[in-house]
Amino acid sequence: MSPRHKKIIVLATLAIVLLLANTRTIACWIDRQGLIAWAQQIRTEYITGTAITVILAMFYLLDGKEAMRRCSDFLRRCPVCDHTMSHTGRYCAACGSRVA
Ligand SMILES: [Zn+2]
Repeated sequence: MSPRHKKIIVLATLAIVLLLANTRTIACWIDRQGLIAWAQQIRTEYITGTAITVILAMFYLLDGKEAMRRCSDFLRRCPVCDHTMSHTGRYCAACGSRVA
């Protein structure tokens, strides 16, 4: 660990301690700015129970690895010329080499 990393760690720790010590002051400042009222309005208008349910269902149904596999199957790249292949053929349209 270099001295530069140690300085960064000390400064980050100091910043975190100062933020935690002034949490109440920061929260009051945010409230005076009207940010909390705005966030509550956004929550009541747009983030309803139905929306949360739909989002959670989509997270459950859309597995990240499966979605990435589908995307990679749809947009394959030629290993020789790195040309993007949007079709399911076995040969690259640009260079003609066989793609698995
Ligand atoms: Zn190719």
